[in-house]
Amino acid sequence: MQNKYTSTRNDKVAIDAKAAIYKGFSDDKGLFVLPNLKDIKINIDNLQTQSYGEIAYQILKVLLPDFSAEEIKASIQGAYHDSFDDDKITPLKKVADFHILELFHGPTSAFKDVGLQMLPQLMNRVINDEERVMILTATSGDTGTAALKGFKDINNVGISVFYPENGVSNIQEKQMYTTFGKNTNVTAISGNFDDAQTNVKKLFNDETLKQAIGKNVSLSSANSINIGRLIPQIVYYFDAYKQLLQNGDIKNGQKVNFTVPTGNFGNVLAGYYAKLMGLPINKLIIACNQNNVIADFFNHGVYDRNRDFIKTLAPSMDIQISSNFERLLYYKSNGNADYVKSIMQNLETTGRMQVEPDILASIKDDFYCNYCSDEDIKKEIRTVFDQYGYLMDPHTAVGYKVMREYQKSDDQHLNILLSTASPYKFIQAVSKALGLSGGSSDQESIQNIHAKTGFPIPTNIENLWKQTSQRPSHIAVKDMKKYVENNVKELWK
Ligand SMILES: *Cc1c(COP(=O)(O)O)cnc(C)c1O
Repeated sequence: MQNKYTSTRNDKVAIDAKAAIYKGFSDDKGLFVLPNLKDIKINIDNLQTQSYGEIAYQILKVLLPDFSAEEIKASIQGAYHDSFDDDKITPLKKVADFHILELFHGPTSAFKDVGLQMLPQLMNRVINDEERVMILTATSGDTGTAALKGFKDINNVGISVFYPENGVSNIQEKQMYTTFGKNTNVTAISGNFDDAQTNVKKLFNDETLKQAIGKNVSLSSANSINIGRLIPQIVYYFDAYKQLLQNGDIKNGQKVNFTVPTGNFGNVLAGYYAKLMGLPINKLIIACNQNNVIADFFNHGVYDRNRDFIKTLAPSMDIQISSNFERLLYYKSNGNADYVKSIMQNLETTGRMQVEPDILASIKDDFYCNYCSDEDIKKEIRTVFDQYGYLMDPHTAVGYKVMREYQKSDDQHLNILLSTASPYKFIQAVSKALGLSGGSSDQESIQNIHAKTGFPIPTNIENLWKQTSQRPSHIAVKDMKKYVENNVKELWK
């Protein structure tokens, strides 16, 4: 079983990393995991002298053991050598008494680029000439854009993106409709993110769809349920630690806290993987918006999504079913796949599940969780800009609020806040927070924010208005299957 991936819901499954990336998702509806993850350690003694790419190599090599060294090196080169606007890829900035890890320097200005520049590189080395893959992706805004960009015109791969109507920002929508790959498709659905994600998961297991698209076309995922997207996210936790060492902010081995704005639980799970692999992390601080299902879970040990879905100023975190939470439950139950299967089935049928007290206690050893209201998002954006001259996007502001809440516990460890998107992706919220009268157009709002803050506008966002947009598409949830079928037919007639 060493170094084979298994399913969170069936420990008889044992497949290679390549197969796990190709499939995305296990047939039993579980997610792929490495059972022996905590035995795989990364040596941090010489982190300081390593580039981002070298750290990425160390991590990918051990977690994707059936890829050759050449394949991994070429994938890292292909993913990062010229697509980020900062040589450090994920630069760490010191702001007052804490640090911000900027994850938004990729081609679509959100952290999703880190994983989604890599996933197509890996996928390309997994499929052979006869195989075709249609990637299905549910997005709360940023994954869709980053996936469309990452998979654009990749051979033998098509992509279909579903996003919630009125559930993404104007900039995110514009980014998605200016991608124009011959293999890219994007549509709004009449529903929220959870509807999109749940129905995409159903399509993976839909036999009639599989028959309709033919034997040589398979379906896969670009969401963080795919290990090929999740694993590259472990890298920046180690790289952040390296930057702290380089700046003399910590001594090697000293523990730090990371605060992570959380939706589908992919980002913060990558942090937990980094901890299991030996990175000195004290607490991982989970920051939710008002869709605070996980925060309630921390209080009661009950995960209950029977509540209203709230549209917030941090729309990429408007999620109530955090898929990757299942992976945490797998590790926290010591790989008890039968247990995970039973509680996940409860969640699917009743919208509610409860864990054993010892599992909750063990989760609380590693994590803290709290949430932030829309009012506080605006307040914190304003405060941090006024006090420290740093401009945060609304998701990062959620993290900031919760990080400060946690600090009241008197924990003295150094804090790193993950910044998950550029503030220019969420200009309405940011304008309001700064007290700017919203411009008459998005372009004007962007210029107003820039004039007030001097915070750099990412080139890809500045260039959005020079591009022609596709006409927006909108479908009912029940037509998602037909949509995928048509996309496959169009692409591989
Ligand atoms: C996707 C996203 C998140 C949530 O990340 P998860 O990995 O889904 O928890 C937070 N902020 C932004 C800007 C995002 O795009």
